[in-house]
Amino acid sequence: HPRVVIIGAGIVGCSLADELTSRGWRDVTVLEQGPLFAAGGSSSHAPGLVFATNPSKAMTAFANYTVAKFSRLDLDGRWCFRSVGGLEVAATPQRWHDLKRKIGLARSWGVRAELVGPDECARMWPMLDSGRVYGGLFTPDDGLAKAVRAGEAQARAAMARGAAFLDHHTVVDVERGGGRVRGVVTDRGTFPADIVVSAAGFWGPAIGRMAGVEVPLLPMAHQYAYTAPIEGVDNPPELEARRPLLRHQDRDLYFREHGDRIGIGSYAHRPIPVRLEDVAEPGADTAAEMPSMLEFTAADFEPSWRDGVELLPALADSKVEAGFNGVFSFTPDGMPLLGESRRLPGFWLAEAVWVTHSAGAAKAVAEWMTDGRTATDVHECDMHRFEDVQLSPAYVTDRGKQSFIEVYDVVHPMQPMEHPRPLRTSPFHQRQRDLGAYFLEGGGWERPHWYEANAPLVRPEDEAAVRDPWAARYHSPVVCAEARATREGVALYDMTPLKRLEVSGPGALRFLQHMTTNQVDRKHGTVAYNLLLDPGGGVRSDLTVARLSEDSFQVAVSSNLDVDWLSAHLPADGSVVLRETTAGTCCIGVWGPLARDLVQPLSRDDLSHEGFGFFKARRIHIGHVPVLALRVSYVGELGWELYTSADVGLRLWDTLWEAGRGLGAIAAGRGAFNSLRLEKGYRLAGADMTTEHDPYEAGLGFAVRLDKGDFVGRDAAAAAAEREPRRKLGCLTLDDPARVVMGREPVLVGGRPAGYVTSAAYSTTLGRTIAYAWLPAEAAEAGADVAVEYFGEPLAATAAAEPLVDPQMARIRR
Ligand code: FAD
Repeated sequence: HPRVVIIGAGIVGCSLADELTSRGWRDVTVLEQGPLFAAGGSSSHAPGLVFATNPSKAMTAFANYTVAKFSRLDLDGRWCFRSVGGLEVAATPQRWHDLKRKIGLARSWGVRAELVGPDECARMWPMLDSGRVYGGLFTPDDGLAKAVRAGEAQARAAMARGAAFLDHHTVVDVERGGGRVRGVVTDRGTFPADIVVSAAGFWGPAIGRMAGVEVPLLPMAHQYAYTAPIEGVDNPPELEARRPLLRHQDRDLYFREHGDRIGIGSYAHRPIPVRLEDVAEPGADTAAEMPSMLEFTAADFEPSWRDGVELLPALADSKVEAGFNGVFSFTPDGMPLLGESRRLPGFWLAEAVWVTHSAGAAKAVAEWMTDGRTATDVHECDMHRFEDVQLSPAYVTDRGKQSFIEVYDVVHPMQPMEHPRPLRTSPFHQRQRDLGAYFLEGGGWERPHWYEANAPLVRPEDEAAVRDPWAARYHSPVVCAEARATREGVALYDMTPLKRLEVSGPGALRFLQHMTTNQVDRKHGTVAYNLLLDPGGGVRSDLTVARLSEDSFQVAVSSNLDVDWLSAHLPADGSVVLRETTAGTCCIGVWGPLARDLVQPLSRDDLSHEGFGFFKARRIHIGHVPVLALRVSYVGELGWELYTSADVGLRLWDTLWEAGRGLGAIAAGRGAFNSLRLEKGYRLAGADMTTEHDPYEAGLGFAVRLDKGDFVGRDAAAAAAEREPRRKLGCLTLDDPARVVMGREPVLVGGRPAGYVTSAAYSTTLGRTIAYAWLPAEAAEAGADVAVEYFGEPLAATAAAEPLVDPQMARIRR
């Protein structure tokens, strides 16, 4: 039995010990610096509000599992979870409007929810001034979790299966040897281990330093206060609360009952980062009860108290009787940190997890450790999702503070971070600015979404789709003009942020054959579209593999997670070298029917269809610039991706730009790109398909070559190939050409939620919106009538045969 040490007996450590031992792990030791089970971390004083609905499907699934599990638990007859319901009120028209979007998220992910009017809000919370609210979102299954009790109940279950929980053991070092973790050192001796999981909550960065692993997490204070007893609040102490949890997000506040008092939490105050050095040692003689409770800074709470009184006027007769600044974890994107470190095999993180998501996240980590995969896709929580530039202390601090500010904000799905920017730029950045680029951000990169210089190309029909203010954000009719110009002429796309790797060495071919689904053993100079599956046959990602020579490949991947996944599987004998080349190189996509007219005069190489066929790769010259050219196209047009080193990137851009003048070439942005890729049915890994889906239901069976020999996920994929899929990634178009949707909306079949939109964009070619969606297989059949619910309004939609544009591939192969 592998020996597992878990650092921390907060809610996450306790849940994980239970989930692991219930999967047959026997040798599990949980080390806790404080006492058990009110150990002194964030879980010890969390007021335990559980709101399940989240923009992330995974986080909602984690919450649903936590609720189901804690509802079944009790500690000596005392409850661990009670569903008192949740009520989010809207005090502004914007919030009321947004609750209609939020109910859509709830319906997409299977959470019961309804919108209620002001009177109903006041019926649920009689203290509430109904004149101040437009209504609320009521979620009957939300409720209160008792984190310490649920932790102890799970710990007891784990101990009954052999786990050990040791209190007052402070981990002071992580032992390494032979390239992996070997154990931990505590103030009371050493604990050898094959696997160490840090569930140390906001102490995570300190444990990370011991292990040599960066933990991008910022401990921050969040204020929580208790009123004095209030007339009319009279819950029996053992029940604690009867009224729903109340959220007043327009003022960054939440409320719950505590017997005869009310507890108020605030995210309205200034961000208060906490230095770990300033947190008391466990057992230290301080005024505060626990290390994670810092002194209440009353002045920070004053505006929140006034806002609270405004919503609940009866509070005016009461006062803040007690309060504290409680510490917990904030990450650059607000999501947890889960997974095994690539830097130190055997060292895992289970951090930055709320009580709300604790059991679900612990279950995922336990599955991952046991089976190498999780039932719920966790790419958004994977500790390796960050780029190197996103791990600097300055970045983690800036973004962590912003995550705090945004906890209750209405955040648009396309909203880019504002600071720090610009962080990463391609060599063409200044040219793009000169063309009036409107930049969004991804992975730290500045990415043009459209160019104002193309405004003269806008036609009246580009403004035909009536965008509501929400859909109009981060959009311009210029996007439509750029899409059309790509289909009719030629456009330059900056593809520099597309991550690329060089995989080389005598073992490179065998390695890539083993990792991917498609045939990689092709003639030199050939490109293959490929999938990365997990061991259960779920789609982790997609990638293109260009074979450059016998044992050298250029691989374009979707994200850092692919780099991590491939690196983790490299053979130990050193026969394969994997090097990321994204930084230091650049890429321009030249696409459109006139692409050859633009590029051929610049090169002495033969770029004819006969001389340089589709899905081929060659080293050529464009003017003075040596490039690696790949004849591929995500937008579904004739053309090439041209890669070169960053030093000559600007020269490449200028050469192409100059040559394109006579042809009316434009620069085009991500907005057009996204619309064109959906017209062609090209999936976006992580959005359209995840590890929860097999390649066949995702419409990607063509990229799986079951007969090529063994590869990761092959057996599961072979089984999936035999099944008749019950669900499918379907292609919908909205019937009303004037409407648009954004993604993550519920899809109604027969009036009931039966699926959800993964990606959507207005198609200039079709003159209507395309939405890809997971649907029951029948509803994905061409011609099926469904509806996409957008801010509560069902928009009629029809399933279509895909791809919608150029199914014969005539535009690309010429
Ligand atoms: P913790 O509970 O902090 O556990 C980590 C444990 O690791 C600690 O017990 C610590 O002593 C131990 N440890 C650390 N370093 C070492 C070491 N070197 N050696 C040994 N042991 C070590 N979440 C919700 O879902 N709903 C809410 O309503 C809610 N409200 C909150 C209100 C406040 C005021 C605060 C502060 C947080 C709130 N949260 C809420 C967040 C939630 O409390 C935390 O996200 C959650 O409790 C974290 O659990 P954990 O097990 O990861 O961390």
